[in-house]
Amino acid sequence: MTSVNPPPAPSWSEDELIEALALLENMQEQLDLLRTIPAGIIRALGATHLSPEDYFQNFLVPAHGGSRRLNKFSTDWHGAPVRGIVEHASAREKEDADLSAGLTVPKYGWRELARSNARVKKEGEDGERGTKREEVEELVKGFDEQTEKATVNFDKESLVIKIQLKVPQWKLRFVLNPEFDDQDHVVYQVECVGSKPAQTSITRCMNKRPAAGDLQYLLDMIGAYQDAPFVTCAICNKTVNQQVIHPTGRRRKEIKNDDGTTETVWEPYHESCT
Ligand SMILES: [Zn+2]
Repeated sequence: MTSVNPPPAPSWSEDELIEALALLENMQEQLDLLRTIPAGIIRALGATHLSPEDYFQNFLVPAHGGSRRLNKFSTDWHGAPVRGIVEHASAREKEDADLSAGLTVPKYGWRELARSNARVKKEGEDGERGTKREEVEELVKGFDEQTEKATVNFDKESLVIKIQLKVPQWKLRFVLNPEFDDQDHVVYQVECVGSKPAQTSITRCMNKRPAAGDLQYLLDMIGAYQDAPFVTCAICNKTVNQQVIHPTGRRRKEIKNDDGTTETVWEPYHESCT
């Protein structure tokens, strides 16, 4: 009798595996939350109620909420993405049933990693081609909402963005002028308005940024100037340089925490230190 080995399952890329683990982590969280449904219903049943109608309404809220969450879990679990993961895992298990290596793989942190990978990928694409025209307004809105010290003025027709940051001692004003490489993508030139040495230095540092076409990167960079001017240079560790100028550059850095998650920080530096 001859035994026929199953054909090898197509292997997934590192990114696909991380996305699959992120999805499973999401399902795990949904499942954990489902466990709280009976407790909510029991609490409603055991409480004191003013009237039968009151009793019914108090019961309905956790029952309806629980039912919605259960339906969502069921839909997601039977959806194509999870089915694809299960099929891929079964095929790989047939090739090699030894799953012991899985014990050393962390259970959490995949969602952050998948988000970070997606962001880097988008930055790479936007950095080269520019940001999609229709995404500009949403990005500006998000910046305006998240950046406490900023006043934002956005012209929907010309797509010119003007940002004012209120920082101690002075106001930093930025003008972002769009350049259109093609119909759909826009790359911004940025100027820190003013002719003082610090302002012209900020303009130079900003225009040397990587991924020049990525508007989100540029907005994050502008937000990083909210701490100006009283910061220490990450390179020389001093507040002012020999020309008595505060750090005018900001560079992004990913820091790994002890629990394996990553965090983004913006480091100040002197233009003269680079
Ligand atoms: Zn320095």
